[in-house]
Amino acid sequence: MRHHVVILGGSYAGIAVMRQLSKYPEIQVTLIDQHPYHYLQTEGYELISSNTSFEETIVSLPALCANYENVTFKHRTVVSIDVANNVILLDDGDLSYDTLVIALGSVTKRFECDTNVYNYSLGAKSLRGALKLNQFFQHQLYKRLESDKKAKESFNIIVGGAGLSGVEIAAGMQYFFNRYYRSNALSCATLHIHLIVSRESVLNGMHPSIIKSTTNRLKALRVILHTNSRIASIHAHETVLTNGTKINFDFMIFAGGTMIAPCLKETKLSKTAKGQFEVDDYLRSVDDKNIYIVGDAAALKSKKGTPLPPTAQTAIQSGKLAAINILATLKNKKLKPSNLKLKGIAIALGGRYAVIDLKFIRIHGYLAYLIKKLIERCYKWPLWYSAIKGYKNIDSCDI
Ligand SMILES: Cc1cc2nc3c(=O)[nH]c(=O)nc-3n(C[C@H](O)[C@H](O)[C@H](O)COP(=O)(O)OP(=O)(O)OC[C@H]3O[C@@H](n4cnc5c(N)ncnc54)[C@H](O)[C@@H]3O)c2cc1C
Repeated sequence: MRHHVVILGGSYAGIAVMRQLSKYPEIQVTLIDQHPYHYLQTEGYELISSNTSFEETIVSLPALCANYENVTFKHRTVVSIDVANNVILLDDGDLSYDTLVIALGSVTKRFECDTNVYNYSLGAKSLRGALKLNQFFQHQLYKRLESDKKAKESFNIIVGGAGLSGVEIAAGMQYFFNRYYRSNALSCATLHIHLIVSRESVLNGMHPSIIKSTTNRLKALRVILHTNSRIASIHAHETVLTNGTKINFDFMIFAGGTMIAPCLKETKLSKTAKGQFEVDDYLRSVDDKNIYIVGDAAALKSKKGTPLPPTAQTAIQSGKLAAINILATLKNKKLKPSNLKLKGIAIALGGRYAVIDLKFIRIHGYLAYLIKKLIERCYKWPLWYSAIKGYKNIDSCDI
């Protein structure tokens, strides 16, 4: 019997584990995801702001997995994990494992002050949410094109949260809107994107020059920044900020934080105050050496012990390391301690403009945009290539 590794979650972290283990035929790998695709969240801003179509932001998981002899993909939803009995409860039954990898990522955070955020806003962490936002945006533009009266009405979008995803979405939408109206010779004075910034500036904690370039770009695009304010309450088409400002809105995007997948809430493994799973130096649960936790679901730290923000790059690094340590355990070799690093950050800010912080150099503008695109393609293209090869194993159509 081959050693059975079950990976829960087929996104950045889970795919990194799967690809690494696929080189070892003595291991049987099962990858489980609730969707038959890997949604490239890091390109979600392009989809929301109508700069790309949805098929450009996904990788087929059945096709990708079919490229590897020892990997099986299951399109299932994880209901819960029984760690005491090494069993996962899926929507259609149980599945047992020898080693488990939890790579179920995160979802848009529940909003402490007002549960209405779920009724009146959409999150950007899922393909469904991003598509809905995009369709709503397009529909509003279309209505304004059809009716002179409607075209004069102001159109307000609120983006709650000015971290990486919030600024990318706000800049991308505003850029698209400005360009759309300019190229159709229409007035662009009616769209107002309100970016709610809980701190003094956007991108809290990042390098001052990155904050400055981003703020300048957002202002040049005419995004309205509400600094030092939080959302106090939300009602149908109106939100009230903590500083008393009332904003009427047509739709709202909430990008103010994340939390672990709901199915993991009751999992009996230690979690931090933020709700992420605590892992040891080798990325195993501190309570169960047979369970690795990677990506956004884990409280990942740098070598110095500093908490790392949830990013795709640390998700990929952690996935690769978990796979290395699974193999080392099976071969009775020494495990490799974690040395996760945030190597840099690239932020797209509408059109052919981005800012990049590579620690030793910080750049903004067109060159930064080209580097951002290169990073995205270096990730996506090998996956697409493998999926195309895999597809030939499951379907006779020529693609
Ligand atoms: C708009 C936006 C822009 C971003 N830009 C960047 C960027 O430029 N650079 C960067 O490094 N990071 C960026 N991030 C952050 C990055 O996308 C996340 O850190 C990354 O997706 C985490 O990867 P993950 O594999 O841990 O989990 P996720 O990507 O969250 O994936 C979790 C997977 O688990 C599956 N899953 C969840 N629950 C279940 C269940 N019950 N049953 C079955 N399957 C389930 C999901 O379908 C999903 O495939 C951005 C995020 C957003 C939202």
